[in-house]
Amino acid sequence: ARLSDLNQTLDRRVTERTAELQASEMRLLEANRRKDEFLATLAHELRNPLAPVRNAIEVLKIKGADPKSVTWATTVVDRQVVALSRLIDDLMDLSRVSQGRIELKREIVSLNDVLSDAIESVRPLAAAARHELVTLLPDRTVAVDADRTRLAQAFVNLLNNAVKYTDPGGRIEVAVLLEKGGVVVSVRDTGIGIPPDHLERVFEMFSQVESALSRSRGGLGIGLALTERLVRMHGGSIKAQSEGLGRGSRFLVQLPLSQEVPHSEEAEQVLSRNG
Ligand code: ADP
Repeated sequence: ARLSDLNQTLDRRVTERTAELQASEMRLLEANRRKDEFLATLAHELRNPLAPVRNAIEVLKIKGADPKSVTWATTVVDRQVVALSRLIDDLMDLSRVSQGRIELKREIVSLNDVLSDAIESVRPLAAAARHELVTLLPDRTVAVDADRTRLAQAFVNLLNNAVKYTDPGGRIEVAVLLEKGGVVVSVRDTGIGIPPDHLERVFEMFSQVESALSRSRGGLGIGLALTERLVRMHGGSIKAQSEGLGRGSRFLVQLPLSQEVPHSEEAEQVLSRNG
């Protein structure tokens, strides 16, 4: 009887182990598939800017081209170079983040300042798409212990997506909600929305609801993965909400509060006391 018990236990272990191995093989295959897809997307995104740049160069080569065409061509080259630089910056950050090589230069900063930096950098893009950009920031100072540039980068990514995944004439709202011991920044848009089964997956590296190869909106699928890691490095968390396709999306970033007063405000307070 003991021998058959032992046999049964062994059988069960073998079955369990086999299932585990199969599951881990599936994960590897899936990761490999996503890597292949990413390489195709990357090639596509790198090649995309070249056609307009080539056209612009042809215009610039024409002797005595009219000034309007020259201005147009220069703008095209400018814009594409900016887009390519951004792509390459993201790629470099991606490799830094996955090797744990991003270091935060933390200081006590005002969250309003961080958000203002982010909002100002996307304002021209939002205006070009005729989006209404609404900000609901608190009157009182909300201090966070953060790397101003890196935290702003996280919000720029969210805002860029809000602009990109909303058809022209939409509404984008940034709001700060104060909670016990923490603060939540909400970035909400009236755009295409995210299907429920993708709400958690959008933060995974290379994950895109619809492949950049098959849609008009480009992208590498690394922005939200970077954002999630940057927020986590700040001791915070992020989640995505959406009422469904076509019903807009909302990203909530929760951050711990700092009890200290931001440096810039400290100086201002001293100045206002003295003046
Ligand atoms: P991408 O370069 O594709 O924009 P991200 O990592 O920034 O990559 O986002 C991952 C995916 O999440 C996007 O491809 C898109 O499908 C979805 N997504 C992100 N932000 C939004 C949003 N505001 N509205 C709708 N979908 C979004």
